Amino acid sequence: MLKDFIGMESFYKSALISAVLLCVVLIVVCAFLGKKLKNIEIKSKIKEMMDYETGIGNLNYFKHNFSHSISDYSRNFYYVAYIVINSNYLQLYQSDSTFTDVVNNAAAILSKSVKHNEFVARISETGFAFAFREMDVSDAKKRINELMEELSGLIVSDENNKSVFYTVVYNLDAQDDNCELLLFNLRRNCSRIFGTENQVLFCDSHSIHSVLEEKKTIDSVISGLENNEFKLYLQFSVDNKTKKIVSAEALSRWIHPEQGLLPPVKYIGVLSKCGLISELDYYMFEMVCKQLEKWSRTEYNSISLSCNFTRITISEDDFIDKLVNICDKYTFDKSRLIIEITEDAIEKNHKKAMNNISECKKLGFCIALDDLGSGYTSLENLCDYPIDIVKIDRDILLKTIEPKGRKLFRGMIALAHSLNLKVVCEGVETLEHNEFVTGTDCDYLQGWYYAKAIPVEGSEEFIDNYNP
Ligand code: C2E
Ligand code: CA
Ligand code: CA
Repeated sequence: MLKDFIGMESFYKSALISAVLLCVVLIVVCAFLGKKLKNIEIKSKIKEMMDYETGIGNLNYFKHNFSHSISDYSRNFYYVAYIVINSNYLQLYQSDSTFTDVVNNAAAILSKSVKHNEFVARISETGFAFAFREMDVSDAKKRINELMEELSGLIVSDENNKSVFYTVVYNLDAQDDNCELLLFNLRRNCSRIFGTENQVLFCDSHSIHSVLEEKKTIDSVISGLENNEFKLYLQFSVDNKTKKIVSAEALSRWIHPEQGLLPPVKYIGVLSKCGLISELDYYMFEMVCKQLEKWSRTEYNSISLSCNFTRITISEDDFIDKLVNICDKYTFDKSRLIIEITEDAIEKNHKKAMNNISECKKLGFCIALDDLGSGYTSLENLCDYPIDIVKIDRDILLKTIEPKGRKLFRGMIALAHSLNLKVVCEGVETLEHNEFVTGTDCDYLQGWYYAKAIPVEGSEEFIDNYNP
């Protein structure tokens, strides 16, 4: 009995020891695995935050530090410098120093200048962001100037003596806790000095936040386009002799969810500035195509529609591809669609714009030169583009109250006719305008005297009720 008891006790003892040992082994294994996993996690975190080319932090790293290292109390002492390399210039003039070398050396210089609680990162192919602390703005300026001098020393200067590094610096305000927005604003402000002789720009809170308004507009335009808030309006033109409707110009209106109906003057400028105007142009082009398709099998099929294209859009490399992609879906007679070259901005690439317009002509579209006599629409454009129609700007018509203005107006029509072009007079607003233009050789009349721009939905009713 006692023997049995002792036997049982030693059995339980050894079982207990085994269990304890097993637990210890399990704990050790778990700890080991945990450490391993943690290491993997840390490694993947590092991976996520590192720029492999230069070995310094990347955009994620900058954002992480921006939210973790800068407290609400210390924010005012921080400056953020967005430093960008003019890579075009490097390629053009600096064949000896390769882009990669310059980026790596710049990263090394920047890392070296980082002090306690400061951080730097490569946030794009050509851009760095550097967050540094100074108590005094003059110290911040001195530090940035020295840094820029050191960076500029990376490039052997040539006779062009052009700048390769540009920076925009901003002293954070208490409310500047949105890193993404801040970097966006710095980038935008950088375009004010990029390519100029001015290498450093210190921004104040006002200039930074005016860009913030612009970003809001850009975001709302993008969502406006996605949500079909831009509407097609038509303004009809008449033949000077018969006074019958011959065509209509497509004009956009933005039905803004909060601000209501906005005319083009409220958004065209901003769109051109931020590179979104082409989106609107193609969007309107598609609506015009749809309308012409709809009319192609009705009694309205003799009416042409003209569509405004800024020169920015016209000079894009993929302009023709995009146009063809859209209009290939439709079967209407292409000569009913008039492409209007607007005057609002100078083209990025004049040669490309000329080639693209020639291609449009080959595709069968009609070409009009808008706003002759104003802005960027100069007489040489009459030779450069294969145009069919010129539109005389309203400003010229307004000058016809003077004898000189009337001579100019008639002279422009004679010039256009000698080049076999048809002429539209814009802005025929009053009875006097109408009487004067009717008495000239002008081919077509457009203006409020005949019609204001109306929503496309009401256009058929307008045509039906129109009595010349
Ligand atoms: P535009 O191409 O010169 O269009 C004619 C402008 O003159 C229109 O202004 C029209 O409403 C206005 N107008 C017409 N008749 C009269 C008149 O008798 N008196 C006066 N005072 N004005 C008259 P709107 O619609 O405000 O458009 C302004 C400009 O915005 C257009 O000038 C055009 O260049 C541009 N635009 C409009 N929609 C688009 C678009 O979808 N894309 C592009 N790129 N530009 C557009
Ligand atoms: Ca126009
Ligand atoms: Ca015009």
